Amino acid sequence: MQLKGKTAVITGASSGIGEATALHLAREGAAVVLAARREDRLAALAEKVRAETDVRVMAVPTDVTNREEVESMIRRAEEELGSVDILVNNAGVMLLSFLDKGKVEEWERMVDVNIKGVLFGVHSVLPGMLKRGGGHIVNVSSVAGHEVFPSSSVYSATKYAVRAFSMGLEKELSRSGIRVTNISPGAVATELTQHITDPDVTDMFAKQKLTPLESEDIARSITYAVTQPENVNVNEVIVRPTNRK
Ligand code: NDP
Repeated sequence: MQLKGKTAVITGASSGIGEATALHLAREGAAVVLAARREDRLAALAEKVRAETDVRVMAVPTDVTNREEVESMIRRAEEELGSVDILVNNAGVMLLSFLDKGKVEEWERMVDVNIKGVLFGVHSVLPGMLKRGGGHIVNVSSVAGHEVFPSSSVYSATKYAVRAFSMGLEKELSRSGIRVTNISPGAVATELTQHITDPDVTDMFAKQKLTPLESEDIARSITYAVTQPENVNVNEVIVRPTNRK
């Protein structure tokens, strides 16, 4: 119970890595604020957290592309739970496509969710964290924020942006008591690939021989980073599956 007395906000908590992370942080004693758009999924997770732990839990339907919604979710968390000590900026979409398909709306969506969503989250928690002289911001980037492959140009651009922003954030906050972790997962078995609309990309994935990681594998890495002693600032984590081709 290393996070007893702390509050963690997890965006994209309605499935995959965010859902697993919320559960792990709650098991470590943190009060959790679950943010994403699908209310039914957030409510089901909130029930699960309550059944398994005695931490406080709030499900706050939030679209991270909407700055006012993000700010009001963070204000509610601060008012009802006292403070936000940990923000996990996890919400993301991976709409891979080949550039000649011209899926400009999907590019815009990735920029809005993956980049702006992270910026809005950080903007909303910073005043409180700076005032208290402490906190932890975890940004979920990707191995695609370190490497680019055909069909990942725009997705990778957003995840490189997350990593670049994490680096700048860490440097600017290095004397503030606020810790910053950028985490870059490799392939994880979640709903992420289900939203891809380019059949050439789905075909490419179908041919890949790879045993992906599970959401729990990433949740454990995030939990590791946020449960280190106060003087330890884990800035960069890359987690890939073993035996990838
Ligand atoms: P999922 O599709 O399972 O989860 C994505 C989450 O993001 C959902 O909870 C979804 O909730 C939320 N989300 C999407 N759009 C919005 C929005 N506009 N506002 C609020 N929440 C939103 O995928 P993962 O768990 O895999 O993805 C989590 C993160 O991990 C992403 O940032 C992804 O890029 C990253 N990642 C994943 C990898 C993988 O292989 N799975 C590898 C590397 C990084 P809802 O739809 O309810 O709003």
